[in-house]
Amino acid sequence: ETARIGVTGLAVMGRNLARNLARHGHPVAVHNRTAARTKALVEEFGGEGTFLPAETPEQFVASLERPRRLVIMVKAGAPTDAVIDEFAPLLEPGDMIVDGGNAHFADTRRREAALRERGIHFVGTGISGGEEGALHGPSIMPGGSAESYEALGPLLEDIAAKVDGTPCCTHVGPDGAGHFVKMVHNGIEYSDMQLIAESYDLLRHAAGLAPAEIAEVFRTWNTGRLESYLIEITAEVLAHTDAATGKPFVDVVLDQAEQKGTGRWTVQTALDLGVPVGGIAEAVFARSVSGHADLRAASRNLPGPARGAVADAGFADKVEKALYASKIVAYAQGFHEIQAGSAEYGWNIDSGAMATIWRGGCIIRARFLDRIRAAYEADPSTPTLLTDDHFAEALGDAQDAWRDVVATAARIGVPAPGFATALAYYDSLRADRLPAALTQGQRDFFGAHTYRRVDRDGSFHTLWGGDRTEVTS
Ligand code: NDP
Repeated sequence: ETARIGVTGLAVMGRNLARNLARHGHPVAVHNRTAARTKALVEEFGGEGTFLPAETPEQFVASLERPRRLVIMVKAGAPTDAVIDEFAPLLEPGDMIVDGGNAHFADTRRREAALRERGIHFVGTGISGGEEGALHGPSIMPGGSAESYEALGPLLEDIAAKVDGTPCCTHVGPDGAGHFVKMVHNGIEYSDMQLIAESYDLLRHAAGLAPAEIAEVFRTWNTGRLESYLIEITAEVLAHTDAATGKPFVDVVLDQAEQKGTGRWTVQTALDLGVPVGGIAEAVFARSVSGHADLRAASRNLPGPARGAVADAGFADKVEKALYASKIVAYAQGFHEIQAGSAEYGWNIDSGAMATIWRGGCIIRARFLDRIRAAYEADPSTPTLLTDDHFAEALGDAQDAWRDVVATAARIGVPAPGFATALAYYDSLRADRLPAALTQGQRDFFGAHTYRRVDRDGSFHTLWGGDRTEVTS
């Protein structure tokens, strides 16, 4: 018997992906560097479908039908290269290697190019949804050649999450496109989480609510336009009581957030592409600040404002509006980065299709993504989501509350960098004139960097050190 597809790397993600495939009736070959994992998988879950365990790479490759489909689910980075080097010599032209790990898209581009020379399709694939998603239906973002998607797409769509019958999987674009989009997905996830955290912090310290009360506020929000997985689990976490102390769980957890790096990559890439993603950057920095225990301890006695909580019956509604508006900005920035990456690398990514495949399976799944899909349907080449009819109206409706929330945060000394940067981005884009004109003047003064004028074409320089006449440069 041959397997339709094989998975090597059977830690939580690979094991669950293999089970998902088997449960859908696809015979799956399974392999892991340490054979004990392979054995354990078949012993525990062998009844769920057809598993073909292999102890060696040779055995594994021999059990795959042709063209071979081989999924690598190992630690990203050097381990992925090691596994590719181990398996590629055993493959033939036309075979496909799917890398489902969290690879950097630049690594994927390099690997794709190297394997293409040997006639092997390398399919860098973003997979979101954690271990539960891998088992029950993740959001899948495959890159690589269109030809490879013809052979892989039906299988991947079969095991992906479905929303309204539509699979949360589509061909993203050539080479690194899938991993790029997965990276930005994670960046948006950082931003979304930071905005939710700020909402909680303000409800607690500006409105004086207890965690259990705030959990109720989030539950209510989850029945409206903010309905999403992240809001849902936020309510769960806030309502949870620590068994050992009887205190709210959120009060016994150390307030230092960790990160694995995809948020940082999103920001680094945005800097390279010249795309403003302040919301994502502030989210990454907020985790970074939280982790600097030494800085925080040294700064604890710096003076803060005299005012404490400002009770205001409508405050929670204002925070909801600030959150929704800031979330629109976060997604607009993320999609801007996807479009910029697509243009830079010639990927031709369909932004509306990305919103569609994020509606289920992944961490940022939300009702909101239907709105984004609709926005790109209405205008596929829109430079920004902010100007879509629905979003523009929501931003207009939210802005007074949004400004109030940011001002309140500043007044009572609660940090709200996500809300503040989102509002600044909104105001920057709407501004008739930006002070960048002054910046240009300064640059021309100290470095003769020249400037353009509003009323004439060309580059100009003012003789600042001389008689200050203007010359054409
Ligand atoms: P880990 O990232 O913890 O990786 C463990 C697996 O990698 C094991 O199967 C291990 O084999 C194998 N491995 C490590 N080094 C080598 C090597 N040099 N040669 C061969 N095999 C090696 O596993 P996860 O399941 O958590 O994640 C797999 C991939 O999926 C990662 O790239 C991760 O970033 C990505 N991912 C994870 C998500 C999650 O929620 N965990 C979500 C989405 C993506 P052995 O048993 O022999 O040690």
